[in-house]
Amino acid sequence: MSLKYVEEFRDGALAKQIIKKILAVSKKPLRLMEVCGTHTTSIFRHGIRSVLPKNITLLSGPGCPVCVTAQKDIDTFIHLCKQDDVIITTFGDLIRVPGSGSTLGKEKAEGADVRVVYSVFDAVHIARENKDKQVIFCAVGFETTTPTIAAGILTAAAEHIRNFCIHPANKLTPPALAALMETDGIHIDGFILPGHVSVITGTHAYKDTFEKYQIPSVIAGFEPVDILNAILMLIEQNEHNTPGLQNAYPRAVSDLGNIKAQKITSQVFEPCDAVWRGIGSIPSSGMALKKEFHPFNATKKFNIQAIDTPEPAGCACGKILMGLKNPTQCALYKKKCTPMTPVGPCMVSSEGACAAFYRYN
Ligand code: SF4
Repeated sequence: MSLKYVEEFRDGALAKQIIKKILAVSKKPLRLMEVCGTHTTSIFRHGIRSVLPKNITLLSGPGCPVCVTAQKDIDTFIHLCKQDDVIITTFGDLIRVPGSGSTLGKEKAEGADVRVVYSVFDAVHIARENKDKQVIFCAVGFETTTPTIAAGILTAAAEHIRNFCIHPANKLTPPALAALMETDGIHIDGFILPGHVSVITGTHAYKDTFEKYQIPSVIAGFEPVDILNAILMLIEQNEHNTPGLQNAYPRAVSDLGNIKAQKITSQVFEPCDAVWRGIGSIPSSGMALKKEFHPFNATKKFNIQAIDTPEPAGCACGKILMGLKNPTQCALYKKKCTPMTPVGPCMVSSEGACAAFYRYN
């Protein structure tokens, strides 16, 4: 993307024009969910909530990968780091997410070999350099991250790196949207769909969900003009009773998405049922390693049975991820739970709704 594009989509005059249109067209009370954590952060950073009419409520959805990772997966990461002769590699945010009794960070302070990496390829490299250790990568993320993890596994397989494995906790976005639509008590009038996930999946990945639920849906980029434009489109769809699946990010998202990335992913992974924090098990919403890649599955390698463990007492992350609460409605918000003393993942991750509220609200 050229700099010209970024400047255009941050243009204050253009943003004002869209806000004016929103104010003119918006009549109904609407609850619009930004599915993606990056959108949540961008909405707060640019003060978008404050320029919308009072009848428009923005809800943060289940699109922060660290936030939706089930407690049992966090506990599994921690359990794995206590095994003999292992190196745990992880993205930075995960290290502070509280498990049932510890965090990866605490275990590191007590001597476990836990290393923050920026890519799965860093983890593969660590495995290459430490043949006497088992190197485990904590695999979280959505459709955007999974292809790189698949590529990392293919690299390890091609190089016969046998001391590398992952604990797969990757997730798929469309099944979560369907799960929200099926949950009693959830009221959503439109989805702001994630831009970067859609770059990989393409628009067509949402067609089944849209056709089944006829919920206004707009794919959006991350600049303020992108987001305001998507909100305007969702309001217009609602006001005119013309629900549609629209792509407001055509400079990056195509109908079919990144076919190469999709092929790499499906070479290594296949959909499986997965547990999401707060939401529970969602059919075909996770990514399991295909049988031929089971030697790269840490839980199989270490013969670990992940056990369901309760989420932290009093933490409303699950309800926030479903749009049933906002962070200020959690009794622990800004009291027991702060970015320095997070109780749940939504306060840890930079993409978490609680962290965004704390920082910008
Ligand atoms: Fe959980 Fe803390 Fe957010 Fe409350 S404020 S929902 S305890 S992360």
